Amino acid sequence: MKSTIVVGLQWGDEGKGKIIDAIAGAFDYVVRWNGGNNAGHTVVVDGKKFPLSLVPSGALQHKKLLIAQGVVINPKILLAEISMLESAGYPVNLTIDPRCHIVMPYHGSMDAASEAWKGKDATGSLHLGIGYCYEDRNNRAGIRLEFLTRPSVLKEKLEKILPLKRAIIEKAYGMKADLDMEKILEEYVSYGKKLQKYIGDVSILVTRKLATHSFLFEQAHGTMLDPVFGTYPFTVAPPTISSAVFPSVGIAARTLPVIGVVKAYTTRVGNGPFPTELSDNTGDTIRERGHEFGTVSKRPRRCGWLDIPLLRYAVRLNGVTSLAVTKLDVLSGLKKLSVCVGYRYHGKILREFPSEISTLADCQPVYKILACWPEDIGGVRRQQDLPKHALGYLSFLESQLRIPIRYISVGAERKALIRK
Ligand code: GDP
Repeated sequence: MKSTIVVGLQWGDEGKGKIIDAIAGAFDYVVRWNGGNNAGHTVVVDGKKFPLSLVPSGALQHKKLLIAQGVVINPKILLAEISMLESAGYPVNLTIDPRCHIVMPYHGSMDAASEAWKGKDATGSLHLGIGYCYEDRNNRAGIRLEFLTRPSVLKEKLEKILPLKRAIIEKAYGMKADLDMEKILEEYVSYGKKLQKYIGDVSILVTRKLATHSFLFEQAHGTMLDPVFGTYPFTVAPPTISSAVFPSVGIAARTLPVIGVVKAYTTRVGNGPFPTELSDNTGDTIRERGHEFGTVSKRPRRCGWLDIPLLRYAVRLNGVTSLAVTKLDVLSGLKKLSVCVGYRYHGKILREFPSEISTLADCQPVYKILACWPEDIGGVRRQQDLPKHALGYLSFLESQLRIPIRYISVGAERKALIRK
């Protein structure tokens, strides 16, 4: 199998974990390359749910797993995830790049404080400190994984950083900063000892093996959460589009196949413009049936119809070569399906996703109405066994995006997948 990038084309939670788990068998390595433990992927195998936030979704297929430098690590969460997998009978074969940055206790405090300060314009962060960890990385004030294995280096860094963080949290944000130097040092040195055996240069490993082995590159979040091309500022801190794989892993850029994962409807958590959002009963029905509550946060996700201009934009940004449509089963039995094919904006019809977020906020969707199907499709395993209107919905999507659909997911379980 040729090395492949998998990206979500919406605001995350498209079911990337399910698709990665289902196809990982054909690859040698699964590589997570962005985000932190605010991004949850759920994999369901034989009725057992595995919520993963840092360990790549190939873990349940016994794949070699890599965490590249673009990921920020909360060591406590990572170690708990490894031990959850191992006690369930899935030994974790993992290499983590020493350049990865570590989410520290003050990052969570700063996250919570700054969200409170933003008030109604809050990003909708989970207060896990991921964005602040990336901020410190960019400001060259971060703690890399390598430092956890060198207590004297870590101590020297913390002696400089902690007084500044304490002053910001207490003086600028007016919150209490519970940052005990000795306690933090002891805790993080102990994480360093436990993680030592996983540390290895992922950039060199992938560079050397890319010609002879196959890699599945797993994105966290989704295209519309990209900090530049997403719905800024309601976005995440690290890049999420496919081309960011290369610097995030540390390999030279090249052309690779890109599977774009599209949920059969649209959801998002957090704030920000969402033109096809449903605030009626249909939205509630989709949320309940699709269990649209955050893997990490448990927050209800906002639900809406499929949005073609948004998907076309995401296809273009990522260079998508094939599609995986997920959660088609959730739509079964709805009265009708609406698909947004353009936006009405101050008397004009826009067919392209706007580059200006303020324009998007004023866009009203223009819908094409399609028929739905009454049948439960959760047990369908061949494309030809799907109801006529389900096939019609999929071929409408294919024709609008001009990208072939290769996978259709009709349930959370690994085997609930139609391969075309
Ligand atoms: P990810 O972050 O893109 O991996 O997505 P999440 O794991 O946050 O959310 C997707 C949720 O939908 C998970 O609970 C999956 O188990 C579930 N899921 C994935 N594919 C399907 C599907 O085709 N049908 C249904 N009903 N659930 C699915």
